[in-house]
Amino acid sequence: MAKRDYYEVLGVSKNATEEELKKAYRKLALKYHPDKNPGDKEAEEKFKEAAEAYSVLSDKDKRARYDQFGEAGLGDNGGFGAGGMGMDDIFSMFGDLFSGGGFGGFGGFGSGFSSGRGGQSRRVNKGSSLRVKIKLSLEDIEKGVEKKIKVNKYVPCPTCSGSGAKKGSGMETCHHCHGSGVVIETRQTFLGAMQTQSVCPNCGGEGKIIKEKCTDCHGDGIIKSDEIITINIPAGVADGMQLSFQGKGNAGARNGIPGDLIVSIEELPHENFERDGDNLCHQTYVTFAQAVNGTTIEVPTLGGKVKFKIEQGMPSGKVYRLKGKGLPDVNNPYHRGDLLVRVDVWVPKSVTKEEKALLEKLDSYKEFQPNPNKKDRSFFDKMKDMFS
Ligand SMILES: [Zn+2]
Ligand SMILES: [Zn+2]
Repeated sequence: MAKRDYYEVLGVSKNATEEELKKAYRKLALKYHPDKNPGDKEAEEKFKEAAEAYSVLSDKDKRARYDQFGEAGLGDNGGFGAGGMGMDDIFSMFGDLFSGGGFGGFGGFGSGFSSGRGGQSRRVNKGSSLRVKIKLSLEDIEKGVEKKIKVNKYVPCPTCSGSGAKKGSGMETCHHCHGSGVVIETRQTFLGAMQTQSVCPNCGGEGKIIKEKCTDCHGDGIIKSDEIITINIPAGVADGMQLSFQGKGNAGARNGIPGDLIVSIEELPHENFERDGDNLCHQTYVTFAQAVNGTTIEVPTLGGKVKFKIEQGMPSGKVYRLKGKGLPDVNNPYHRGDLLVRVDVWVPKSVTKEEKALLEKLDSYKEFQPNPNKKDRSFFDKMKDMFS
């Protein structure tokens, strides 16, 4: 059975904001809620359909895939398969939308307002998460860093101090639910009278309504604004990691609680090092004479240059491990990775006649003829390991 377009299901436009989606879904969920339509199969289907549409469109990633590829972009799990979502799924996923309504168990964040009728708390608005990407150098990652980032986000409206009410005009208790944020219906069933609660449709569960809306924020209590946020990135983070900073996201409507700031880490390439977990890798060259005679070389580390000894007769491609010169472990700052330095012998691309003659002279000595012992043949052992 072909599914209806999710936007169509919710009755919103393709570029509906998060808030619009939420509103549209709440409206449908209240209308088709099983408590209000007992035994009505069609209402139940509509209720499920709306939940499915909202579960996809309210998820930024899923919505993007849906916009681009339609239902096919969601794979097997995104569209909830042929069976659709179960009622339990819906309540566990969207319990906070119903919070205070008695639909999904105990809702919300315990705003502290008591309705005086069983102690349900009213709905508190939660701000949405804010996502940013941050580019870090290996130097930043090694030490951990404080970053100031500029974001455009929802902040409490300064005109009304986040209340959403026009100056001089306050809030009034919702006359529909008398401030409880919920409406209680009594139904006769074969078990006797049953009471069910639902979110008050007049105030959306807040228990109060604004007398006159603030003209700057249109009653939402939040406006978009550029803000500088300071965040501390711990040492040892890696490319693709996501850090969550509680309460630093978008402000919640009408003095609700703010959402989180989610920071994705992007690691900038480094001119000297490749990263492998907590280890760093560096490659360098010595001359043929240095490899034969031994020498001291200098290599860069994140904390400045260090010197180390190359022994006589170093085979080309030898890897030296400089303990503790890598990156700290993000989960354990006392543990550090190593710096692995691969040293290759430099072979000139071209030589002069004179140089060529010198090299040929060297070749006439016995020691310069290849004569590998078993240890030098370890390459083959490694190959065997690879294919066995
Ligand atoms: Zn305002
Ligand atoms: Zn109300």
